[in-house]
Amino acid sequence: MSHPSLRASTHPLVAHKLALLRAKTTEPKQFRELVRELTWLLGYEAMADLATRPHPIETPLEPMIGARMEPKVGLIPILRAGLGMVDAMLELVPAAEVWHIGLYRDERTLKPVEYYNKLPDAATVQVCLILDPMLATGGSSAATVDILKAWGAARIKQVSLIAAPEGVATLSAAHPDVDIHVAALDSHLNERGYIVPGLGDAGDRQFGTFAGPASEPGHGPDEATAEVVRRLQRDLEP
Ligand code: URA
Repeated sequence: MSHPSLRASTHPLVAHKLALLRAKTTEPKQFRELVRELTWLLGYEAMADLATRPHPIETPLEPMIGARMEPKVGLIPILRAGLGMVDAMLELVPAAEVWHIGLYRDERTLKPVEYYNKLPDAATVQVCLILDPMLATGGSSAATVDILKAWGAARIKQVSLIAAPEGVATLSAAHPDVDIHVAALDSHLNERGYIVPGLGDAGDRQFGTFAGPASEPGHGPDEATAEVVRRLQRDLEP
């Protein structure tokens, strides 16, 4: 599957670290470290085309014209798994602003509903990076882009560790101008909305929360999720 807006990393370090991240034996401490290292590498790639402006400096030897990054960057982590990507991005861009937008899926309409949004009236940044380790159905990302565009963000990029074809199709159909940077594009979504082969639940694996009902053996799909996945897979059929 090829999408003009999809940028899948080909860097060997990314491939190596992603394999470690996916392995089911990787414990939360190492998992968090790998999320951070991968975010660093993907962030570096995602920001490769940001503009710079000339900035005069003096080295100990002589004056010269250096560079300053031009656009103000905003980080928008998708709760909760996107939180683990924020620190790495802040290491790359210490002056970035972090804005939180909370969305949940309405069980009846299957549409994302906003429950938290403290964005000021007008956009305070030019480039927004949406952070979500897993681009699964794409519903939350597409809704987040709607909100950021209405806010006035000039440019928006999605940074994810793994994407499903269904999520890429949803996001790029709704917002073809949004670049999607990933470490890998996987095979498909299963009926529980998990990316296959994926890495499981990125939130549980970062935060060590394996005791919820969804993690119990034999836990079946909830009908709302299964319906979203069936609809997305029908849309992808040739
Ligand atoms: N969210 C996850 O954490 N994992 C998936 O596979 C899909 C969505």
